[in-house]
Amino acid sequence: MNSTIHMVDVVGQYQKIKPEIDAAIQRVMNSGQYILGKEVSEFENEIAAYLGVRHAIGCASGTDALQAAMMALGVQPGDEVITTPFTFVATTETIVLLGAKPVYVDIDPQTFNLDPSGVESAITKKTKAIIPVHLYGQAVDMDPLIAVANKYGIPIIEDMCQAIGTEYKGKKVGGLGTIGCLSFFPSKNLGAFGDGGMLVTNDVALAERLRMIVAHGSRVRYKHEILGVNSRLDTLQAAMLRVKLKYLDRWIEARRTAAVLYNKLFQDSAVVTPFEAAFGKHVFHQYTVRLKNRDIVAQHLLEKKIPYGIYYPIPLHLQEAYRSVSICPKPLPVTEQAVREVLSLPMHTELDADQQRYIADHILEIA
Ligand SMILES: *Cc1c(COP(=O)(O)O)cnc(C)c1O
Repeated sequence: MNSTIHMVDVVGQYQKIKPEIDAAIQRVMNSGQYILGKEVSEFENEIAAYLGVRHAIGCASGTDALQAAMMALGVQPGDEVITTPFTFVATTETIVLLGAKPVYVDIDPQTFNLDPSGVESAITKKTKAIIPVHLYGQAVDMDPLIAVANKYGIPIIEDMCQAIGTEYKGKKVGGLGTIGCLSFFPSKNLGAFGDGGMLVTNDVALAERLRMIVAHGSRVRYKHEILGVNSRLDTLQAAMLRVKLKYLDRWIEARRTAAVLYNKLFQDSAVVTPFEAAFGKHVFHQYTVRLKNRDIVAQHLLEKKIPYGIYYPIPLHLQEAYRSVSICPKPLPVTEQAVREVLSLPMHTELDADQQRYIADHILEIA
């Protein structure tokens, strides 16, 4: 067994493809093109092809992608955006930055994703967008969500920051809604060596608008047609991500294989293993279990120096920064239970079976 267990092993993954990554760095360094250029546009084309969408626009982060998506859809101060309270802060943060209000709908207890059955009653005249998050790498049940969204003419922004390659009914997520938002944060399934993000859409007019927004609202230099921001995908990152994209499907399979082994190790125990909905393909950005005695198990892992994550310990509707600016049309009991029970285990492409057995043994001692 490799003696150090990592939550995510970014260095181990780099070591395996080092010659190709280093060559990509040298290619950019020698080209003199350090902002945008061919590496970025080729990577955009490759992501569009990989996801089966028409347009892909690089930007500086997943958070920026979410903000640009809402700007392109005209989200204004006073508007409402329906989203999940059980995710990373970026969705809520960008909604509030634009002066809009997050409206929280509870999650499905099995997938941890926004429960589409709660969305219709949360819609008001002010609802400008719905942002589901494909959490942990599992798809949201999109068909019922799309049906409600279409009924009221409300666009859907897919937060797919944890879900590149995730499938819903045989199709990759990202092009199912109006705009998809990707992050290349180093720990993501397709992670850069720094920050990065991308926007995807099948709508040509929106694609043009998004491209202007991330470039200071400009199509032609020094002519500013709309309000924009400065948010570019770094050229060096794009060149390195192009190398990594070729390995992504293999890496997804490695994660799925590791998930199968964890499932087997926890069979017939008090550890509730991740539910994989029949409608999709989970890419296991996180392998997240539920435990009634989560905090006791977590303390034990800490003592044994086994890394773990709690994603996320405080739901967004109870966060100090957002409590007074968000709307909860109904109580959120499923979310409030999930934050007490979830525990994410080490999951990455370099994990070996002995490490997984060691982790599972220590959890089963206590669970
Ligand atoms: C990582 C993440 C983001 C933010 O991405 P950054 O690139 O770090 O800005 C947004 N939403 C979710 C669900 C994420 O996991």
